[in-house]
Amino acid sequence: MKYEYILNSVGDQIKLPFDEEGIAYCPICGVSLEHCLAYYPCGSPSEEICPSCNIQFGDDDVPTAEYKDLSTEEYFDIIRKQWLGRFPWKQEKVNQLINILGIDPDRLRKMRTKHHTQNHLGEACVMYRDPQGNICCPVCGIVWEDTSDWGFENFLASLEVCPCCSTQFFLDDYPDTPPNPHNPPEKRWTALRTAWLNKVDWSDQAITQLKNNLDLDVSR
Ligand SMILES: [Zn+2]
Ligand SMILES: [Zn+2]
Repeated sequence: MKYEYILNSVGDQIKLPFDEEGIAYCPICGVSLEHCLAYYPCGSPSEEICPSCNIQFGDDDVPTAEYKDLSTEEYFDIIRKQWLGRFPWKQEKVNQLINILGIDPDRLRKMRTKHHTQNHLGEACVMYRDPQGNICCPVCGIVWEDTSDWGFENFLASLEVCPCCSTQFFLDDYPDTPPNPHNPPEKRWTALRTAWLNKVDWSDQAITQLKNNLDLDVSR
């Protein structure tokens, strides 16, 4: 990718990606704009609408009143989070931001939300949600959709089976004995995670899912 820089209407620098053939990509979500431009070289917006993130360049591409203290790039991150949440956080879309826009993967990971919560035994644990509020499986990191009406506690006691790692919550991840500080939920989840990783032969996809969704670095 090649990048050109312009100043937008509020004086912030915008990085515009182009491929080798000169095709422009959306500076917010990284989708190919094909025969359109987001901004002209002079910095004027084109009034085009991005087909993927739906932002109209020249209309809703600068911080709104609600976000007036943010820079344009910080505001773009908010739009990116909403956009990623629609898929939700599909690897292909995350890679688009990394490969086309050159966004630091660490910055994307920080867009996820980390929650401190408790399970039904009163044990403290950390869970991750994507920006839409969907829960990430604490064992394998896959995003669970349509659990919005469950609380965290309900999720951990739901008896639901994860479609990816097959962990049955409240059964597989609970100890037989009363809570033991030497065997916290994180430790039990780690054991289940290792079993799952062995089952999928530590695939790159599994390792990436853990890194992106649970901020975990694992190696065999
Ligand atoms: Zn876009
Ligand atoms: Zn899982």
